[in-house]
Amino acid sequence: MEFSSKILERAVNEMSQLPGIGKRTALRLVLHMLKQPKEQTTALVEALKTMRDDIKFCKSCHNISDVELCEICSNPIRDTSLICVVEDVRDVMAIENTSSFKGVYHVLGGKISPMDGVGPHDLNIESLVNKVKQGEIKELLFALSSTMEGDTTNFYIYKQIQDYNVFTSTIARGISVGDELEYADEITLSRSIINRVPFENSLKS
Ligand SMILES: [Zn+2]
Repeated sequence: MEFSSKILERAVNEMSQLPGIGKRTALRLVLHMLKQPKEQTTALVEALKTMRDDIKFCKSCHNISDVELCEICSNPIRDTSLICVVEDVRDVMAIENTSSFKGVYHVLGGKISPMDGVGPHDLNIESLVNKVKQGEIKELLFALSSTMEGDTTNFYIYKQIQDYNVFTSTIARGISVGDELEYADEITLSRSIINRVPFENSLKS
């Protein structure tokens, strides 16, 4: 792509670093911004900068938060002895939308995936195991997507905590194999949480 301006070229190159944004799309977006009032681009840049500078990860559940302990963890009505294990913040949002879960979360930050070079130590697993070891957790509900990586991750965590006195469950498979939680409709997701099954059952099938 030949640019008439180095400044334009730089903006397009930066924009095209985003996933799913090729050079053509990046150019279209950048030209769109040039047509918009300047304040709009400034607001976008500031929002992104503030996000990078100020956003925190909850010190307990690793969810994205504006404060040290997220709103869910610091809510006295939530049952902190029930932990739902999820991959990322999108899963928290999807489950919260159903209003059918009253426990708290633990955000792993991904799934174990040797193919992508992601091992257990790249994820927030140790802090979860430590919570269980402290003995205040009654139930861990695995809510990872039903892919090979999700199953591997569930099983790895299960192995780490099976000697401790904690009940493990997994969401009922109204969520079909390979589906991401994020895309499940609220009713299906809500049912799969309410009808959760003991984790051991999922190992037999
Ligand atoms: Zn939290």
